[in-house]
Amino acid sequence: MDDFYDLDGVKNIIPVASAKGGVGKSTTAINIATALNQLNHNIGILDADIYGPSIPKMLGINEKPKISEDKRFIPIEKFNMKCMSIGFLVDQKTPLIWRGPMIIKALKQMLHGVVWAGVDTLLIDLPPGTGDVQLTLSQKVNISGVVIVSTPQELALIDAIKGINMFKRVNVPVLGIVENMSYFICDSCNKRHEIFSYGGAKKESEKFKTMFLGEIPINKTLRIQSDEGKPACIDTPDGEIANIYLSIAQKIHEKIN
Ligand code: ADP
Repeated sequence: MDDFYDLDGVKNIIPVASAKGGVGKSTTAINIATALNQLNHNIGILDADIYGPSIPKMLGINEKPKISEDKRFIPIEKFNMKCMSIGFLVDQKTPLIWRGPMIIKALKQMLHGVVWAGVDTLLIDLPPGTGDVQLTLSQKVNISGVVIVSTPQELALIDAIKGINMFKRVNVPVLGIVENMSYFICDSCNKRHEIFSYGGAKKESEKFKTMFLGEIPINKTLRIQSDEGKPACIDTPDGEIANIYLSIAQKIHEKIN
């Protein structure tokens, strides 16, 4: 379509969506990004969660982007990825009190006002919900496919389904669903607990005829790594969690190539 942004020729654009907040969308986006990087994708990551950007903290970035000669932001390089977030520009503790049109202006600025040259696969960490940002993105960039993240809990799945239906309605393909916080293995007794229930995302992916990408357990180290700005795939690349992300990335890689 003519009015799609070119984004310096980025080939694959993959938003990561959850519809519900707090289900691990940013954690999943970052780790899939680093795993795709290990599969030789030149990765860009755009934090489109403008009210609640997590990328600066989760990637341990404290600097501001520089400006190019043509007055665009130069994304910050971290872990071999080009990263952009509104959180690089505003104080992390100050809330953004912006109405919808300002949010959309900021989103557009972060899409075409950033030097994405050199990136072949751009992951976009979406805000929760099915609102303006999701719609604008669907209309402005040529999305390869959306990755949906949900916990197995019914309440989260209802929102995930809403998200899938929204993308279907605007003709954006869904690449698949990730079940996050799928189960917990107790580190002292080794017993498996299905804290938020189990298997719901797989069932929904079958219903929607979309790929089930994988399941990630509740894992304390993963949470600590996020808090410390070290994605699991970087900090413990041979660990069980990193391997799960790698297998998810492999499925995405096969689908988009
Ligand atoms: P969202 O982007 O959906 O709001 P986040 O990725 O910010 O969610 O995750 C919310 C919190 O849950 C973060 O503190 C993160 O470290 C933690 N978290 C996410 N996934 C897991 C997991 N599988 N195991 C343990 N903690 C997790």
